Amino acid sequence: MNRQVYTFGGGVKHDDPRAKDKVITGGKGANLSEMAGIGLPVPPGFTITTETCVQYLADGGDFSDALRADVAQALIHIEKAVGKTFGDAADPLLVSVRSGARVSMPGMMDTVLNLGLNDQTVEGLATTSGDDRFAWDSYRRFVQMYSDVVLGVEHHLFEEALEIAKEDQGYHNDVEMSADDWRKIVKQYKAIVSAELGHEFPQDVTEQLWGAIKAVFDSWDSDRAKVYRRLNDIPGDWGTAVNVQAMVFGNMGDTSATGVAFTRDPATGERAYYGEWLVNAQGEDVVAGIRTPQYLTKAARERAGAKPLSMEESMPDAYGELAAVFDLLEKHYRDMQDIEFTVQQGKLWMLQTRSGKRTAKAALKMAVDMVDEGLIDEATAIRRIDPMALDQLLHPTLDPKAVRDILGKGLPASPGAASGAIVLDADTAEKRAEMGESVILVRVETSPEDIHGMHAAKGILTARGGMTSHAAVVARGMGRPCVSGASALSIDMKTRTLRIANRALKEGDIITLDGATGDIMFGQVSTIEPELAGDFGTLMVWADKHRRMKVRANAETPQDCKMARQFGAEGVGLCRTEHMFFDASRISAVRQMILAEDEAGRRTALEKLLPEQRDDFHQIFWEMAGLPVTIRLLDPPLHEFLPHSDAEFAELSDTIGIGVDTLKRRADELHEFNPMLGHRGCRLGITFPEIYEMQARAIFEAACDVAERLGDAPVPEVMIPLVATKKELQILKKLVDEIATKVFAEKGRTLDYMVGTMIELPRAALMAGEIAEEAKFFSFGTNDLTQTTLGVSRDDAARFLSPYVEKGIYPRDPFVSLDIEGVGQLVQMGADRGRATRADIKLGICGEHGGDPASIAFCEAVGLDYVSASPFRVPIARLAAAQAALG
Ligand code: ADP
Ligand code: MG
Ligand code: MG
Repeated sequence: MNRQVYTFGGGVKHDDPRAKDKVITGGKGANLSEMAGIGLPVPPGFTITTETCVQYLADGGDFSDALRADVAQALIHIEKAVGKTFGDAADPLLVSVRSGARVSMPGMMDTVLNLGLNDQTVEGLATTSGDDRFAWDSYRRFVQMYSDVVLGVEHHLFEEALEIAKEDQGYHNDVEMSADDWRKIVKQYKAIVSAELGHEFPQDVTEQLWGAIKAVFDSWDSDRAKVYRRLNDIPGDWGTAVNVQAMVFGNMGDTSATGVAFTRDPATGERAYYGEWLVNAQGEDVVAGIRTPQYLTKAARERAGAKPLSMEESMPDAYGELAAVFDLLEKHYRDMQDIEFTVQQGKLWMLQTRSGKRTAKAALKMAVDMVDEGLIDEATAIRRIDPMALDQLLHPTLDPKAVRDILGKGLPASPGAASGAIVLDADTAEKRAEMGESVILVRVETSPEDIHGMHAAKGILTARGGMTSHAAVVARGMGRPCVSGASALSIDMKTRTLRIANRALKEGDIITLDGATGDIMFGQVSTIEPELAGDFGTLMVWADKHRRMKVRANAETPQDCKMARQFGAEGVGLCRTEHMFFDASRISAVRQMILAEDEAGRRTALEKLLPEQRDDFHQIFWEMAGLPVTIRLLDPPLHEFLPHSDAEFAELSDTIGIGVDTLKRRADELHEFNPMLGHRGCRLGITFPEIYEMQARAIFEAACDVAERLGDAPVPEVMIPLVATKKELQILKKLVDEIATKVFAEKGRTLDYMVGTMIELPRAALMAGEIAEEAKFFSFGTNDLTQTTLGVSRDDAARFLSPYVEKGIYPRDPFVSLDIEGVGQLVQMGADRGRATRADIKLGICGEHGGDPASIAFCEAVGLDYVSASPFRVPIARLAAAQAALG
């Protein structure tokens, strides 16, 4: 049987490492023990272990005799250390009872202070302290807290009684209450308890103590705690510890105080103590908002222009001691600490310390500063930053000081803040943006045809669609702020107006989006630009030093490539070629090609597209000079490019000289029941080889031209999508090789290039060994691999996927974080089988998962050569890859 109770403070020295292990004594208990161990002034106490809680709950809420004996023993330890006896009517020991799980967890029982007071001991406290009012104030606080959190009497009953008493006396404030007033209140409070519960408030101090311990244990299984655990992935079998600790009093007059502090500024990371305190106050008075707390330091008070003196000024001795403790704790824990303290008649007592929560910006600054200070090493700094938190830093953010007029809220689909004029369609967005206007594209939902408008817009707002909707995925990829699924938004395209909740707006009105919160605001709200040099740059340099995998970007425009390089991309992992086809200048040639009756017709249209594609690739190779660029040949179902409206058909008919009826018939023929599993990917290349021929030619001509001009040859990696069999790849590789040979002969030069494939069908993963005979590289297309393995369409998943995640069927959205258990097996298998055939096969991942830290850790474990993520995710991927490499 493991030890159930650990004492701390009062000079105990533990050899047992369990005492300082959060798993056993909880975060609060472990740190109290740790602080006492390094000689800091911690009121003596003891901790009942988390294991005891788990056992208690399993036993159906019973305490063993052994536990009762251990607690009695530990109480004697406190009594000896303090020189007072629990329940002694003349000079009573009072304790606090505090919950404390492995991680800080709202929902657990609130702390009970001043336990051990009853009708007798309160008199003893009054005598020994020489302060009647203090004693009765403490007692009424205890009765109220204990009745509320342990006995379950509603606290508003007490608050109302106090309000009435103050009104009767004509008081405005608690401080006006005299000892006698408090005495009367205690009487009333006890009467409330009797009336509510049908029994007296417990006068037996031992009964009080066990009641509180029981309440802490029971609170582990409270609804509040369960909800919090579910939302934060905290296992239900951890249990909570209970801390019982001698009281110190911050409410013993003007030389006493209580406060909370951070050893550095948690908002900016600045190396300055930061905190709040209150004279003559107890417990949570500082955070409760009843009185306005004062600044800790003189500098902070002066900066805020506040009058009430700082602790530094009014209690210089205690403050000096506290500052020394700050430094000691930071050195000890090698991290910024969040501290709770109390001063009793000039003497400082430490009540809690833990690593403090911080903003992303502060986390970065602290990590870099602490390496400079020699407090931590680079690896620790790298591990300490949550890669996803970098997202906040890479985009403009709203100026926190700016006034906001919130219209409504949607989902925070893509981070960053943007202001601009409302535009209701993609063409208008493009037109107005070209004239230099900032615009926000507002749509019911977006589709591939809106891409140019999304590119032109500063931000995107949709009424429908979840976090993985088209708008959300594309916006994240482009780094555009996006708020999706704003259900309060309705759009009237006829009048070109919209409503958000009850506010009417029209096209051209200025709005602001905060893609990190989902807020939609009226008017222009000023923003702050991200800072990519400085601490951010330093951390990135360290990350690059420690990672093994390369990081590439998914990018298809020269602008994306430029941004990707700025963010540190080491190549393009996925250049989709279809987005280029939606461009207004090309769409009719694309449509002409698709709707052509025969190969000759297609070739005519493709000839028009060749120079355009060549130009695209030329620009991309130019931006990515010296780096590998993976270009995926045409992938989507052709119907995505078809005209929709009669007007579009008429326009196309005019341009290419084919009758509208013929065009419509041809469009009907192209209709597919399930286009995602239809005529797309390499199936297009197999049936219409001239399309891939044109694309291959465009790639090699552009590559040769850039090599000619730069001398620094790009390394094209031609990627064939949706391959399921070796034969498909064999045919298409041959086609690409033939074009390459031709172009090289024409240009009089050769270039290194590779042909490889995406692994995005389960069959491809299974057959990877054979496919690798043809493929020089594999890129795991985990978006489609997830769709095809789970049999779930990403575009239709919104309706059922969140309930699935809530019920724990999938731990996270499998389109956001790779389903490692399932889809991960196929990735592992594909990689293993590929390498078995071709030892030096290049392996990468290009799905959305390439920017997700958990998925990146998996890629490291599989031994992939690189991950590829959207440009804005490149820094996140660099950091996550370093963390994965560090293990
Ligand atoms: P939480 O987990 O909600 O922060 P704590 O157990 O830290 O709860 O208690 C809240 C506050 O109660 C502490 O910050 C401290 O001010 C006060 N407190 C707790 N124990 C004692 C004690 N032994 N003596 C004086 N004040 C205490
Ligand atoms: Mg609290
Ligand atoms: Mg606390």
